[in-house]
Amino acid sequence: MTRKFDAETLVIASHNAGKLREISALVAPFGVTCRSAGEYGLAEPDETEDTFAGNARIKAHFAARETGLPALSDDSGIMVDALDGAPGVYTADWAETPNGRDFPMAMQKTWDLLDQRGAPEPRTASFNCTLCIAWPDGHDEIFEGRVSGRLTWPMRGNQGFGYDPIFIPDGHDITFGEMDPSEKHAMSHRAVAFAKLVEGCFDR
Ligand code: IMP
Repeated sequence: MTRKFDAETLVIASHNAGKLREISALVAPFGVTCRSAGEYGLAEPDETEDTFAGNARIKAHFAARETGLPALSDDSGIMVDALDGAPGVYTADWAETPNGRDFPMAMQKTWDLLDQRGAPEPRTASFNCTLCIAWPDGHDEIFEGRVSGRLTWPMRGNQGFGYDPIFIPDGHDITFGEMDPSEKHAMSHRAVAFAKLVEGCFDR
């Protein structure tokens, strides 16, 4: 039996503007006030685990402890089959530069690696999302979602964020970057995990 969320305010334990936008849109229908980690001046804890769930736990527990409120984190990434699941939990790290994150560079690197390996098309991949809701007393609940698809080159579309411009979900022929945000929100890895969270914790 999962613990129900019965507070007024939920802290979104992320500093990623794209995730904040998507999670706030998903939470909006439940009449919950969302506050971001940035509004509380929280630092970004180091993500030292090698699983999505482990890193999601670090972020949610940190924010819940610091604010004294329930906190929701998202750890997510893209797993490319021909790269043995990379970049996976290191998706954001692949975009790091001395001047901040550069996702076009990270996508180019991913495509180049596939070329170097001679990976045949379709170059299948999946987006994975683990949501963790943590309470200040240390309790947490975990929910996971995945969407499968294939990578394409060159990048297409300027909606969304991160790796969206090269990912085409199964059953579609446009990238997440070309998709209307409401369409992406209805089917993404985050939406799948979020539906499980709603069923487990928001069903009041
Ligand atoms: P982290 O969970 O903060 O470690 O970062 C996950 C990274 O995965 C993000 O910075 C994005 O690059 C990528 N990612 C996760 N979800 C999405 C998505 O919905 N679209 C595009 N990229 C995503």
